[in-house]
Amino acid sequence: MSELPAAPPPPDVPGDIPAAEFRAAMHRVADIVADYLEHVGAYPVLPRIAPGEVRRALPAAPPEEPEPLEAILADYRRLIEPNVTHWNHPGFLAYFAITGSGPGILGETLAAGLNVNAMLWRTGPAATELEEVVCDWLRQLLSLPAGFVGHINDTASVSSFLALAAARHRLPGLAIRERGMAGRRDLPPLVVYASEQAHSSIDKAVMALGIGHANLRKVETDDEYRMGAASLEAAIAADRAAGRLPAAVVATAGTTSTTSVDPLRAVAGICRREGIWLHVDAAYAGSAAICPEFRALFDGIGEADSIVVNPHKWLFTPVDCSVLFVRDPGAFREAFAHVPEYLRTAETGVTNLMDYGIQMGRRFRALKLWMVMRAFGAEGLRARIRAHCALAREFAAWVEREPGFALSAPVPFSTVCFRAVGAAGPAEQDAMNERLLSAINAAGSVFLSHTTLRGRYVLRLAIGNLRTGREHLERAWALIRSLASELGRTADA
Ligand code: PLP
Repeated sequence: MSELPAAPPPPDVPGDIPAAEFRAAMHRVADIVADYLEHVGAYPVLPRIAPGEVRRALPAAPPEEPEPLEAILADYRRLIEPNVTHWNHPGFLAYFAITGSGPGILGETLAAGLNVNAMLWRTGPAATELEEVVCDWLRQLLSLPAGFVGHINDTASVSSFLALAAARHRLPGLAIRERGMAGRRDLPPLVVYASEQAHSSIDKAVMALGIGHANLRKVETDDEYRMGAASLEAAIAADRAAGRLPAAVVATAGTTSTTSVDPLRAVAGICRREGIWLHVDAAYAGSAAICPEFRALFDGIGEADSIVVNPHKWLFTPVDCSVLFVRDPGAFREAFAHVPEYLRTAETGVTNLMDYGIQMGRRFRALKLWMVMRAFGAEGLRARIRAHCALAREFAAWVEREPGFALSAPVPFSTVCFRAVGAAGPAEQDAMNERLLSAINAAGSVFLSHTTLRGRYVLRLAIGNLRTGREHLERAWALIRSLASELGRTADA
């Protein structure tokens, strides 16, 4: 054997940044975040920038040489912080307003330090067990029956996708996991049912699961935007008669447009009789079930096969954190578990979170939820949700009292749908409300969003940020009224 030439000495491994530098920067970051949260209200909620401006301000190529953290943080303050949409702003009243609360931010920071990937119990014992514990704490707070087991996904969209995949897997005799769906004569078209107010994530899930968008039945809703149980029953019967196979029903508890709650008990009864998986999308409003006075609205939720609740929506936990509860975790795991040799571990009787979905790696999200639940306590969380709902009711009362405005839907939680009304026809009125929304959002102090209800353009004001107080709503309402009358005068002129 010929001699190998002597190897050059290995270069020094440069390693991470020096510990002292990191510590100093971490303190600096703490100040930056604390300053941001203290003064976020001074920013316009929507940054006043045009598309492409941030990109143009950044170098097109990555730096070749290391840069001091101080310079990077200075650029963060100059280029990034002012140019985000400020979700933590008290005037953020769009979509579902949310809060990255102090305790949640601390949890997120600690999780980043640990950098745990909790795919297996072995790779994250505390992360796995804390996830089990906090999900069970949440189950108790929501008053869900014992037996429901939760795990944390990034978003409700993914949680609902997984729930529908599990429902598809449970269909007897079809072995879709093994045999797939393509080219099978023995496989009737599968059908999923949801109300016409269901979130678009359900549309995406049926598309991605091979069920097909045409096989999502959008069941009509009543005058309060709740799924009609009789219409659901009729749709299922019609599909069965046509040889199609009902695979799952998605009921929504807190729809995205109006926060209406489908009649869960009636829907659950139908699902039980028909042997159909019931998934409840309670991504936003589910959190309200921690308050006993809201539980009547969720009556029947415990009959579901799966339920999604997003602590990142209304439990003050930073994005992302979506808890999916399943009634039968064993059956749920069967839909997804697939363990290659290199991931086999010796422990038995433990949870390996990678068995609960399609992703292998998992962020340590339980830490921030744990910190939020402990730092606020159940009573603190309830008090905050109650305060948001009370503010929404007050805002709704202002709208109702004001000539030229009308509520567009009931206000069961903390979101108000309303619009300016006038003598003009429907098209003009819609256009006027669209102009009104643009003017409101251009002012900078608040950010509202919109929806359409029965084809009509409607403004939405959602309260969910811990910094939003009565004074912000008073200011928002004064702005809305004055802009509406200005627009009305312009239209008259
Ligand atoms: N379901 C409902 C009822 C929603 O309102 C939303 C978002 O607002 C979602 C699901 C999607 O949530 P995520 O962004 O966590 O996927």
